[in-house]
Amino acid sequence: VLPVVAIVGRPNVGKSTLVNRILGRREAVVEDVPGVTRDRVSYKAEWTGRQFMVTDTGGWEPDAKGMGMAIATQAELAMRTADAIVVVVDATVGATATDEAVARVLRRSKAPVLLAANKVDSERMEAEAASLWSLGLGEPYTISAAHGRGTGDLLDRILEAL
Ligand code: GDP
Ligand code: MG
Repeated sequence: VLPVVAIVGRPNVGKSTLVNRILGRREAVVEDVPGVTRDRVSYKAEWTGRQFMVTDTGGWEPDAKGMGMAIATQAELAMRTADAIVVVVDATVGATATDEAVARVLRRSKAPVLLAANKVDSERMEAEAASLWSLGLGEPYTISAAHGRGTGDLLDRILEAL
């Protein structure tokens, strides 16, 4: 049985883009319209010779009532079923109320939680992630899922945590 890494976070932060980056191919559904990923989809992945499952989550209508609740539920589910959890936040937006709701759930996680500050597409954007320490999930790892910036380091951290 392979260890499971769950990717959680609110819509449009780049979860599916990160999953594709981890898989090294286009498979998870990425859309400019948030909420296209079906509830949860798992894929077999490999990094530095180690295999694991990566679970993409999503599929909520961005403005539907109870979206925050659905995401919190997904985070709860991840806590119970995953061996490590990656919370993705959009560093160009900063922590939203929904991000904070997810963080509140995951601060109780027994499984290791890593905070990925996504959309840091260039060096000069690095500083924008510093405010994400406020989520109480430890160091924000800056990445650009779209360009692959920092994602190798994040994968190293994920495997260390497993
Ligand atoms: P999800 O809803 O969290 O799964 O987000 P998606 O992976 O579907 O991405 C939402 C939008 O953000 C898409 O338009 C992506 O192209 C864009 N996006 C994802 N990662 C990055 C990134 O690292 N940098 C930038 N600039 N855009 C990104
Ligand atoms: Mg998605």
